[in-house]
Amino acid sequence: MYKVPDLPYGYDQLGKYISGDIMRLHHDKHHQAYVDKLNAALDNAPALKDRPLESLLVDLSQLPEAVQLAVRNHGGGHYNHSLFWQWMSPDGGGEPRGELAQAIIARYGSFQAFVDEFTTKSLAVFGSGWAWLQPNLDIITTPNQDTPIMQGLNAPLLGLDVWEHAYYLDYKNKRDDYVKSWWNVVNWDFVEGRYKA
Ligand code: MN
Repeated sequence: MYKVPDLPYGYDQLGKYISGDIMRLHHDKHHQAYVDKLNAALDNAPALKDRPLESLLVDLSQLPEAVQLAVRNHGGGHYNHSLFWQWMSPDGGGEPRGELAQAIIARYGSFQAFVDEFTTKSLAVFGSGWAWLQPNLDIITTPNQDTPIMQGLNAPLLGLDVWEHAYYLDYKNKRDDYVKSWWNVVNWDFVEGRYKA
């Protein structure tokens, strides 16, 4: 059985940028629903329950057809959100340091130019989806709960949830204000750790 991981900080600790109301709804209701629906779907394919989630997501076509869509949507949702909580921190914001900072500057010219491009791409996601920074420093987007490892790509360094459920309570329809705020909570230590790995 898959489980929703605890938040690595308090619900209200990102409050200046993302309210406790959003965090409670997003973590306790939306993420929980992905996990519940994933577990329910796998009742029909019990052999898959012992497999690491990544091994299901990297090749959906190998799964029984009856569970492929559920694993894609709810397994993707569980995978993406489990990372998303760690990509934010009450001590976040600022800029990366060290090798990752150098690599970003070499690729984009400056940290701000990287932020601008990531922001532009995240705002261009039509409907629900995610924006990602990949280990090769490409910035890509996916629709719905699709995740880069479903496409044969490496696991992302950083990801941003741009579903309306991630921001609507605080920001209404203003996704741009949400994204602008989100940079203040990005956990660059965690991103750097993934880059080094
Ligand atoms: Mn979400």
